[in-house]
Amino acid sequence: MSIAENIALVRENIAAAARESGRNGRDITLVGASKMNDADACREAVAAGIDALGENRVQEMRQKLSEHAYDGAPLHFIGHLQRNKVRQVVGTVDLIQSAGSEALLLDIDKAAAALNIVQPVLLEVNIGMEAAKSGFTPSELFAAAEKALTLPHVSVCGVMAIPPFDASRDETLRYFAETRSLYVDIREKLFHNGPMELSMGMSGDYADAVRAGATMVRVGTAIFGARHYDTGGAIT
Ligand SMILES: *Cc1c(COP(=O)(O)O)cnc(C)c1O
Repeated sequence: MSIAENIALVRENIAAAARESGRNGRDITLVGASKMNDADACREAVAAGIDALGENRVQEMRQKLSEHAYDGAPLHFIGHLQRNKVRQVVGTVDLIQSAGSEALLLDIDKAAAALNIVQPVLLEVNIGMEAAKSGFTPSELFAAAEKALTLPHVSVCGVMAIPPFDASRDETLRYFAETRSLYVDIREKLFHNGPMELSMGMSGDYADAVRAGATMVRVGTAIFGARHYDTGGAIT
C-alpha cells in the first residue's frame, strides 16, 4: 500500500467514526506523524492531502525543513520539547502540540515575543500520570490554561494527550473520556465554547479517539509503515 492509499484508508475510518459521534470526517484534522520517515515520504503525504505533518525531534525536523519536506502543509511539533530547543521551534511550526509545563510555556512566550509573533500551542496533559512522560497532570491543567491566557505571545488552541502505551482498550477509552472532560471544562469556562482542538488518537486507536470526541488525530505507522529504529529509517 502506498502512503496515499494508507491516507485514504485512514480517512475512511475517521469518517465512519465521526459519523458515529454525529460529526463529519472533514471536521477531523489528520496529522501525519512523520518521525523517522524521510523528506520524500513527507512530500508524498503532502501530495496526498494530509492536513498537517507532525515531528518529534528538533534536529530531524530542521534537517527535513532544509529539504523542503513539508512544503504545502502545516507543520506541528508533537514530541517532548526541551527548553534549550524552544527557539528552534517557535515561529517555525504552525502548532506546538506538546506544551506541557509552565516553564516551557514561559519560554515559548519569550521566544515568540522576540519574534513579535503569537505562537499557537496545545496544552499536553499527562493523562495516565506516568512518571516518565511530560505534560501537565490532570489537576494542573486548568490552572495552566489560565496562566497561558496571561501570556501575550502564546495562543492556547486546545488540549493534547498520549495515553499510556501499555493500556488496555478499556483503559484507553477511559483516558480519552477523561481528557475530553478536561478539554470541555476549559473550553466552556475559559474560551466561551469557542473552537478548540482535542488532539488524541494514534495508529492503534484513532477511531476510538474520534468516537470519544477528538478533533485531531496523530497517525504515523498506519500512514508511513513501521518505523525501524535500528536502521534509523522507516520501511514503508
Ligand atoms: C509517533 C507519534 C504518534 C504516532 O504514532 P503511531 O502509533 O505510529 O501512529 C502520535 N503522537 C506522537 C506524539 C508521536 O510521537
